[in-house]
Amino acid sequence: MKEFKHFINGNFVTSKQTFDNFCPANGRYLGVVYEGLESEVDLAAEAAHAALRGPWGKFSLDERVSILNKIADEITRRFDDFVEAEMADTGQPRSVMEHAFIPRAAANFRIFSDVIKSVPNESFMTDTPDGAGALNYTRRAPKGVIGVICPWNAPLLLMTWKVAPALACGNTVIVKPSEETPATATLLGEVMQAVGLPDGVYNVVHGKGEKSAGAFITAHPKVDAITFTGETRTGTSIMKAAAPGMRDVSFELGGKNAGIVFADCDFDKAIDSFVRSVFLNCGQVCLGTERVYVERSIFTRFVNTLADRARALKPGDFNDKSTTLGPLISPQHKEKVLSYYRRAVEEGANIVTGGDVMEMEGEWVGGNWVQPTIWTGLPETASVVQEEIFGPCCHIAPFDKEDEVIEFANASEYGLSTTIWTSDLSRAHRLAAAIEVGITWVNSWFLRDLRTAFGGSKQSGIGREGGVHSLEFYTELRNICIKL
Ligand code: NAD
Repeated sequence: MKEFKHFINGNFVTSKQTFDNFCPANGRYLGVVYEGLESEVDLAAEAAHAALRGPWGKFSLDERVSILNKIADEITRRFDDFVEAEMADTGQPRSVMEHAFIPRAAANFRIFSDVIKSVPNESFMTDTPDGAGALNYTRRAPKGVIGVICPWNAPLLLMTWKVAPALACGNTVIVKPSEETPATATLLGEVMQAVGLPDGVYNVVHGKGEKSAGAFITAHPKVDAITFTGETRTGTSIMKAAAPGMRDVSFELGGKNAGIVFADCDFDKAIDSFVRSVFLNCGQVCLGTERVYVERSIFTRFVNTLADRARALKPGDFNDKSTTLGPLISPQHKEKVLSYYRRAVEEGANIVTGGDVMEMEGEWVGGNWVQPTIWTGLPETASVVQEEIFGPCCHIAPFDKEDEVIEFANASEYGLSTTIWTSDLSRAHRLAAAIEVGITWVNSWFLRDLRTAFGGSKQSGIGREGGVHSLEFYTELRNICIKL
C-alpha cells in the first residue's frame, strides 16, 4: 500500500487522520493520504519561518539560481516517476503527461531562475533644493511564507508554476495539493531532499479544504501571502480567510471561455485546435473552450466535423500511446458534469453528440467516464452556456456580425481566455482589444511563453503570473532614498 505523507521541515511525516486515494480511470485504490490539521500546519509554518531566518535566508542569488536548476534537472532525471504518479492520480493519457504536464514542471524552475537573475531594479536621480540631489533605488525582498493551494487538473504543472517563482524570490512555501492528486507534490519532496534544498523551504501538508489543511493554511497568522488556483467560489472563502493580517492573495480561478471562428479561418487547423481546447484533459482545463461561436456560413460544417472528431476520441488505458481521452477526476465531479448534461436537455439543447456516461469495458468500468458532448440551439442565457462545467463538452452557436460575437463573448462573469480564428489580422487585433479576458490566442490555443502575463479578469482571478509579473506577488518592493 502506498502512503502519501506530509513533507515538513525536510522530513516525510504522518498524522492521525487519513483518507483514501483512488485512480479516476479505473477506481483502483492507490493508497492512503495523511490528512493535515492545525498541528501539521503549525509545524510547517514554524519550519518555513525558521528557514527564512536560517540558511535559506542567507543564500546568495547565485546559490538560489543554482538550486532551482538542480531541481529542474532532478525532475527531468525522475521524469518517468512523475509521469507514472500523475497518470495514476489523474487517469489522463501518457501523451499529455509526457509532452505537456511533466516537462512544464521542469521548465517552470528554469524560467524563474532566468527571470530572477536578469530582472533589473528601478532607480531615479532626484533633484533637491540644495542641488546635491538624491538617489532612489529599489530592492526586492521575499514576502515570507507563501501558502500554495492547488487544484487537481494539472497538479504538478500548476503547483510548480507557483513554487518556482516563490523560491526564486527567496520565499518559503507550504503547499497543499488537491486531495484528489497528492502524488507529485509528495514526489517533489524527494527531489528537494536530493538536491539539498534547506529544510523548511518546501513543505507539503496534505488534506482537504474546509476544516482541513486548506482552511488552516489560509487562516494561519504565520502564512504571509496566499496563492491559489481553483474554483471562484473557493477563492471567495480564501479571500475572507486572508483578510485578518491583510495578507496578499494571487488567484487563478474559473473560466467559461469563448472560442470564435470566422469563415475565413484555416478550417482544418481550427478544428484540430478545438479538439484540444474542448476535450484535452477531458475538458478539465481552466483555459478550455466551453462556448464556441462560428460564423453562420461555416456553422453546420464546423459542428459536424468537430462532432466526428469528438466521436473518434479514444478513451481507456492511459498507458496506451493511442489513448486520447481520459476520465473525469472523481465520481463527484462526474455527477456534476452529468447534471449539466441533463440540464442541457431541460434547457432545450440539441445534442449533436454525446450527452451521457461512457460505457467502458474490463478494467475501465470502474472509472469516471463521460461522453465527449456537443450541444447547439441553447439561448445565451442558459445555465449550460453561462456556468463553468469543467467537462468534455461545449455549446456551439452561429453568429453573423463581429459586434454581435463580441457581445456574446463578453456576456460572462468570467474573463480568463479566448481563442479567435481568422485570417484577417486587422479583425484579430480589433477582437483581441474588445474581448474582456486576460489571455487571447489568435489562430492558436494554449501556446505558452512563460515570460508572458498569465491570469484572468472579472471573476477569473486576481493578479498575473509569469515572467517578471510573478515577482509582483512573490516580493515586496522596497524603495531606498539616499540623500547625496
Ligand atoms: P477547488 O476550488 O475545489 O479546490 C482547489 C484547492 O482548494 C484544493 O486543494 C482544495 O482542497 C482547496 N480548498 C477547497 N476549499 C478550501 C477552503 N475553504 N480553504 C482553503 N482551501 C480550500 O478547485 P478544483 O476543483 O480543485 O479545480 C478546478 C477549478 O480550478 C476550476 O474552476 C478551474 O477553472 C480552476 N482552475 C483555474 C486555473 C487558472 O489558471 N485560472 C487553472 C486550473 C484550474
